[in-house]
Amino acid sequence: MQIRENFSLKPYNTFGIDVKAKYFSNFQSVDDLEEVLNSPLTTHHSPLILGGGSNLLFTKNVDGIVLKNEIKGIEIIKQDDNFVYIKAGAGINWHEFVLYCLNNNYAGIENLSLIPGNVGATPMQNIGAYGVEIKDVFYELEAYHIKEKTLKTFSLNECEFGYRESVFKRTYKNKFVITSVSFRLRKIPVFNTSYGAIQSELEKMGIKELSIQAISQAVINIRTSKLPDWKVLGNAGSFFKNPQVSEHEFHELRRKYPEIIGFSVGTKYIKLAAGWLIEQCEWKGYRKGDAGCYEKQALVLVNYGKATGKEIYDLSEAIIGSVKNKFGVPLQREVNII
Ligand SMILES: Cc1cc2nc3c(=O)[nH]c(=O)nc-3n(C[C@H](O)[C@H](O)[C@H](O)COP(=O)(O)OP(=O)(O)OC[C@H]3O[C@@H](n4cnc5c(N)ncnc54)[C@H](O)[C@@H]3O)c2cc1C
Repeated sequence: MQIRENFSLKPYNTFGIDVKAKYFSNFQSVDDLEEVLNSPLTTHHSPLILGGGSNLLFTKNVDGIVLKNEIKGIEIIKQDDNFVYIKAGAGINWHEFVLYCLNNNYAGIENLSLIPGNVGATPMQNIGAYGVEIKDVFYELEAYHIKEKTLKTFSLNECEFGYRESVFKRTYKNKFVITSVSFRLRKIPVFNTSYGAIQSELEKMGIKELSIQAISQAVINIRTSKLPDWKVLGNAGSFFKNPQVSEHEFHELRRKYPEIIGFSVGTKYIKLAAGWLIEQCEWKGYRKGDAGCYEKQALVLVNYGKATGKEIYDLSEAIIGSVKNKFGVPLQREVNII
């Protein structure tokens, strides 16, 4: 175990924010993790667990230890005629895991292609894209309780998944380290092309026979045309969640703003497109110093080079304030503020 001091986190977050961790270490197994957690350096501050750093914004130096999860390994734990159950180490890159499943014709996560980050963080906010969320393919996960020093298995229900939410962002925030996630994937695919953009991209690609590989490629094409590449322009994907309002609130808003974009969630709520609300407040393409609101998608905040986390955070505060003023709708951040 090597613990480094005063360690730059710039290469470890997709916003490219230049902050330092007082201490930094990595672990490749649960034993490694136990060893580092037993070190006196970790007893004073609860450690910050890091995956790919693609869903967080560092606003200051970390005055404790950052532990990068590098647990690897893929294992088939069981299978039947219809499903295969695969356990994946939390430190595996998510898209590499998607490619492994595509190569083996295991279906269910093709719509989640190209989402940055690691397997271990996927349940944290129940990642989702193009009509699919992790909860749809989730089987169970293993997590290490930092204080009790025990491994616990969490079932689907125990994770309390919601829209970009789970029990690990609420009750168990900073209490567990997710060490592996197991997925239930289909041997016979059920295609999900409910998102219009996928359909039209498949047509553009000239796909005659649908396959999980074709859907994955369509999703990759759409994502690369719409989202900035974080290796070129620092960002953490959607900075805000799409807010939910009651049907009554939605009708009131639509009376005033007939163009407003909303999708039904169940029978009671409407999810508003946060990007549209932000765009109406004229933030799209805004830039102050090196902090900005992406020119092609207002939901994405970007670092043009040397922005500080505080500058990006302040921009997000200003956006939240103006959306609240204009529409009376409070926006919530999707990105974890550190
Ligand atoms: C260009 C771009 C596009 C994106 N598109 C999407 C999208 O379509 N859908 C979507 O849902 N998200 C999207 N995201 C957000 C992000 O990729 C996901 O949330 C991803 O799952 C984060 O993984 P990570 O390993 O980078 O997590 P990190 O950023 O490293 O960590 C996120 C949070 O989880 C905690 N954490 C991480 N790993 C563990 C662990 N093993 N145990 C305990 N806690 C842990 C961290 O402490 C932190 O609080 C996008 C991001 C970018 C940059």
